[in-house]
Order: sequence, then C-alpha cells, then structure tokens
Amino acid sequence: MGGGAGEKPVLIRWEERDGQKVAVRHDGRLAAQLRPIRMEVGVLSNADGSALVEYGGTRVLAAVYGPREAHPRHMALPDRAVIRCRYHMAPFSTAERKTPAPTRREVELSKVIREALEAVVLTELFPRTAIDVYMEVLQSDGGTRTAAITAASLALADAGIAMRDLVAGVAVGKVDGVLVLDIDEIEDNYAEADMPVAMAPNLGRVLLLQLNGVLAHDEFVQAMELARKGIQTIYKLQKEALRRKYVEVVQEGDEQ
Ligand code: ADP
Repeated sequence: MGGGAGEKPVLIRWEERDGQKVAVRHDGRLAAQLRPIRMEVGVLSNADGSALVEYGGTRVLAAVYGPREAHPRHMALPDRAVIRCRYHMAPFSTAERKTPAPTRREVELSKVIREALEAVVLTELFPRTAIDVYMEVLQSDGGTRTAAITAASLALADAGIAMRDLVAGVAVGKVDGVLVLDIDEIEDNYAEADMPVAMAPNLGRVLLLQLNGVLAHDEFVQAMELARKGIQTIYKLQKEALRRKYVEVVQEGDEQ
C-alpha cells in the first residue's frame, strides 16, 4: 500500500457478462486472475543455480551460490548450512531511480525471505557451509517480494540443493472493495489492503504472510484462499520450468 499521489485512477469496472455483474480490473484481468507469468531456469552460467521470473511487468532474477565454504569462517554453523539472502531493487527497476544502497525495506525483505527459505532447504545436509541467494529486481510493478521468493526457490532447485518443497508466492489485495489476485503497482498504490503470501504448497505450510491495510475476518479468509489458488498455479509453472531445463540437459547429453 503506497498511498498513491494525484487523482485516483479507475481500478475496477463493473461489467455485465452472461447476465452476471463481474469486476474487471484496469488491465482487463478478472479478480481471481494472475498476470501473465513466465519462468526460466538456468539463465546465468557463473551461478550454481539461477532463475528469471516475471509476473507481468515485475521481473526478478535470482542467483544461488553454494553450498560453499562459509566466509567469514566464524559465520559457519557446526550442524547446518547458513542461508544468506539479498533482495535488492536495481536502480533502473523503477521509474524514479532507486538508490543503489540497500534500504531498510530491502534489509527487512531479505530477512523474511531467508526465513521462508530456511523452512524448506535441508540445511542439516550441508554443515559448516553457506548458501548465498541473490535476488535482483530488474523491473518492478508490484509483488516483487513474492516474485523474488518464487525465483529464489527455483534457483535453489536449479543448484541441486535438497529441499522439502518449492516455495511460491503471490500478493493479494482489496481494491475498491474487491478482493483481487496478484496486485500490480498501481493497484497496490490505491489498495485498501495488500497481502503478500508465500507457501510451500506440498507441505501445506505458509512461509510468509504480511498484511498492510485492513480486512474483515471473512475477507482475510477469502484472501488467503485466493492466494492459495494462485500459488497452486505458480507452483505448477515452477515444476514445468524445472522439467523444461531437465529435458534440455538430457537432450544435450544424448547429442554428445
Ligand atoms: P512488493 O514489490 O513486494 O509489492 P511493496 O508493497 O513495498 O513491495 O512495493 C510495491 C511496489 O512499489 C513495488 O513492486 C515497486 O513497483 C514499488 N516500489 C517499492 N519501493 C520502491 C522504491 N524505493 N522506489 C520506487 N518504487 C518502489
């Protein structure tokens, strides 16, 4: 919820379709519709694992290094790997240049994303090592933290790091009284509420949940259900992206 400046744009139009009144969003989406989502795994050659994820105009690149020797050494833990996360918005990712230095928002988001990933990575398999997860927002149009988690979990899988489940995220919100899935920046700016959610769908665990603004209890329950369904779809796309990479690798092997 950014508290948009200037005159409020029309974000919801009510249209009659098949005798029903339906809410249509400013970009033509229905309330429970995701933006076009694109994912690609293994997009960087230096990193052990990487992924590029797009939710509409939001574009995030994730790179994973490790498990590798932890530096400085005193950071290492005797019984498990440490996960270090950096969520960062590139200075060119927003219309107005963002300061390249990490802001308090980025430091906090790095921490909550780390906590979400720690819940799925089998860190106990890699004692005394570090796993570095870098998430760079290349273009921001709302929902960057959730797209970053989705990308990070794909990059961890691409690095071959054992996990209990993938993590997928999406932000839901309340715009002009309507609960909507996958809010973009303009909706976020004028929303009555916005709620980023990340889950490990197969484990049935909620790994990140933040609510800005106000929802009635019933709306909160509906918003969680909307998020859960969106996350199921994103989860399928993640598995497909990993499968595509695997098929490519197998084909390359066959050609040799
Ligand atoms: P999220 O990206 O996870 O939704 P926020 O709710 O904090 O996080 O931000 C919503 C949107 O506002 C971002 O996706 C981005 O488009 C924009 N935004 C956030 N921080 C900045 C910033 N420092 N400069 C310009 N735009 C920003």
